[in-house]
Amino acid sequence: MKLKSILTLAAAAILGLVPASPLTAADEHDHDHAAKAGPTGGKLLTEVEPHAEFLVTKDKKVEIRFVGEDNKVVAPAAQVVTVTLGERSKPTKLTFTKDGDKLVSDKTVLEGNDYPTVVEIKADAKAKPVRSRFNLNLTQCPTCAHPEYACTCEHGDHAKKDEAKKGKK
Ligand SMILES: [Zn+2]
Repeated sequence: MKLKSILTLAAAAILGLVPASPLTAADEHDHDHAAKAGPTGGKLLTEVEPHAEFLVTKDKKVEIRFVGEDNKVVAPAAQVVTVTLGERSKPTKLTFTKDGDKLVSDKTVLEGNDYPTVVEIKADAKAKPVRSRFNLNLTQCPTCAHPEYACTCEHGDHAKKDEAKKGKK
C-alpha cells in the first residue's frame, strides 16, 4: 500500500512535469511573433517596421499590407517592395503598385509550390533593403486555417525542437 502511494506520487510528479515544459516554451514564443498571422491571414514579416503581411490571393497575385503593433493595417508610405520567386538561376521578380491600403504585385506567383521566395522591402527608394526569405508553400495546413507559408501552428514544432536542444545540454 505504501509502495503503491509512492509510485502514484512519482507518476503524478512525472505527469506534472509534462505540461510544465510546453508552457515554458509558449512563454518564450510570446516574444517571437513570426508565426502570428497578419490581419488578412497572410504571413507576417516581422523583420521590417512597420511589419508587413505577405498574402497570396485567390487569383495568385501577391498583396503586401503594412501592419501596426496592434495587428491593424496601416496605409503604405513610401515603401518599395520587390518579391523574387524561384531558383536563383532563373528568378521571377514581382514589383508592386499601391492599391488603397495595400500593395499589389504586377504578376502572379509561379506555378508549382514550395519554391524559394525573397521579399525585399525598402522604407523608401533610397533606403537599405530588409529581406525576408522563406519557401512559398501554398498547401493548406491541415491544422490551422492558413496555407503552410502563413501557418500559425508550426511554432509548436519549433517549441519541441527548442526543448530537444535544451534537453541535450
Ligand atoms: Zn497550421
